[in-house]
Amino acid sequence: MPVRIAARYLLPIDAPPIERGVIEIDDAGAILAVRPHAVGEEVTDLGEVAILPAMINAHTHLEFSLLEAPLGQPRMVFGNWIAEVVAHRRARGASGVDLAAEKESALEVGLRDSAAYGVAAVGEIATHPFPFAPFASRATESPRVDAHLFLELLGLSADRVAPLLELAEAHLQQGAGQALRGLSPHAPYTVHPDLLTGAIGLSKKYEATLAMHLAESWDELELLTSHSGPMVDTLRSLGAWNPSAIPRGVTFQSYLEQLAQAHRALVIHGNLLTTSDYAILAQHKQMWVVYCPRTQSYFPHGNYPLAEMLSSGVQVTVGTDSRASTPSLSVWEELQHIAAMHENVPASTILRLGTIEAARALGLDSKLGSITSGKLAKFVAVPISETPHDHEDLYELALQQQPTIVGSW
Ligand SMILES: [Zn+2]
Repeated sequence: MPVRIAARYLLPIDAPPIERGVIEIDDAGAILAVRPHAVGEEVTDLGEVAILPAMINAHTHLEFSLLEAPLGQPRMVFGNWIAEVVAHRRARGASGVDLAAEKESALEVGLRDSAAYGVAAVGEIATHPFPFAPFASRATESPRVDAHLFLELLGLSADRVAPLLELAEAHLQQGAGQALRGLSPHAPYTVHPDLLTGAIGLSKKYEATLAMHLAESWDELELLTSHSGPMVDTLRSLGAWNPSAIPRGVTFQSYLEQLAQAHRALVIHGNLLTTSDYAILAQHKQMWVVYCPRTQSYFPHGNYPLAEMLSSGVQVTVGTDSRASTPSLSVWEELQHIAAMHENVPASTILRLGTIEAARALGLDSKLGSITSGKLAKFVAVPISETPHDHEDLYELALQQQPTIVGSW
């Protein structure tokens, strides 16, 4: 017996809004039909709300989910924030707590918070050794949170390359479980060129997605162009600076050209990309830029070129990044932040970034990202008290609200 959920508005995202719409759902929680309400049919009416697909977080590090506030101070230099993150990790290590247990509970809290915010899937950066248990149970227990687990690869020295690639291949070979598996060569300033080449090779061999932090900060740019600046100072103080591993003057463009050879690639941040970079990204429909809005605003990176990227044809999606740089794991709040920062980007586009585009970027669009027959019945609903003038006005009214209903049917 199918369940029928009705509401004043349905916003399927991959199709125009439906006024007085009905979603038919089968016993297994899959959507059977999305259509207008037929006269006289019995439904569960959610009332004066707009139903949207559940949110998807394309980039996060849930192991920081026990932090109550971001590390450091707003507007701090990025290279110094990295030092704060490392200091935080070291302080936890020196505190005598069971780090493995703490990491596992952080993942549990992060998944629980994500579910409470109406997030149905996360692109998680998984650091070794990674406790898979919280993801395995969240994949079967309600509220279910799907995941794409990107094993983090971090190593500037040549002798780390072979063991890390071995670990990476083992990670990808275990891909039969609930979560999708990918790799995350961390960033240009922490990844030996051979490690990146090897990760791209594995991406092709296993049809796996790569996620790499790129073009995030001015400090990163200074490091690449002149081997100097706060990032180099931080790496040097950690004993992790290896100038011979980074060709001086290497550009973001050269990293993009390499990532374009992967099966699929997520460019995390891309804050400082420019017009010539957009052209490469626009040509490669297996590439996405993951904008982390509140994290971007936490640092003095300048304005984010969202409108420019979108008008150039770059595929953009959204992530929260971690609780070390954003106040919550709510994708909805990230979308509201975009609306506040980018008045020229329509609400209909913004809502796509946290739903269908994120699902496509993570390879989960066959079951998530829109209200479509065959996909999972996982939604958020927001109150709509005014009568919108047109569709765009409806998207705007929806994005101004907070979800009051989140869940699976
Ligand atoms: Zn990140």
